[in-house]
Amino acid sequence: MMDIKYKGWNKHQPTTGQKLIQKNINHPILPFREARSITTIKGRDLAWRYLLKALPKHHGENCHSCKEEESSMHIFFECKSIKQNIDSIYQKVCKDSNNTYHGPWSEKVLGKLLTPFSSNLIGAIMESIWYRRNQIKFNDNTTIITENQIIHKIKKARDAEWDRTRKIVEKQLRQELRCTDNRESINRTASIKRRHEKFSHNWNSKLMTINIPEHFIPYCSYNTNYS
Ligand SMILES: [Zn+2]
Repeated sequence: MMDIKYKGWNKHQPTTGQKLIQKNINHPILPFREARSITTIKGRDLAWRYLLKALPKHHGENCHSCKEEESSMHIFFECKSIKQNIDSIYQKVCKDSNNTYHGPWSEKVLGKLLTPFSSNLIGAIMESIWYRRNQIKFNDNTTIITENQIIHKIKKARDAEWDRTRKIVEKQLRQELRCTDNRESINRTASIKRRHEKFSHNWNSKLMTINIPEHFIPYCSYNTNYS
């Protein structure tokens, strides 16, 4: 039925931008591998679609905010209706979380998907920009992107990561308790400590801290007090 109604429905016809990517798929400026460090599904999906030039939008339309031509780059990085606001949020969150600010906000930040926090920060900002753009385009509703929205999204990514870490640590603690060999027991303790340190290094800052369960505290050698 599809063949009769829509000729060539299953033939992929890449756009000019997609053809360019097909030639440059291994090019180091396209951070496909690094985009995996964005752990929220929406943020990662948007970053992937951006890189693959596969956003669900029509080519050649104008931006609903500023009336300039709406390319993918325009939406996320160039539109003057949000550029300054986004940059100041990006700068402030980087500062408050002790992450390096790689601004001003531009397409270049996609080359800075370096840590779980900074990757998810970039993913959260892209998600908010896309939501705002769709609200204006389809609902005629102009919303403002705030720092709180962004932090809320990163916290969700952090909570999911903590959930995974906590489960692994609980399991490691049970194994450690059962352990009778002294040498092995020392190794297991060290491994739990390393896991905590890694999580703390990636996610804890004065901007957001987690409440460590009491029985984990002997295994935390870092300072959790940022006040
Ligand atoms: Zn615009």
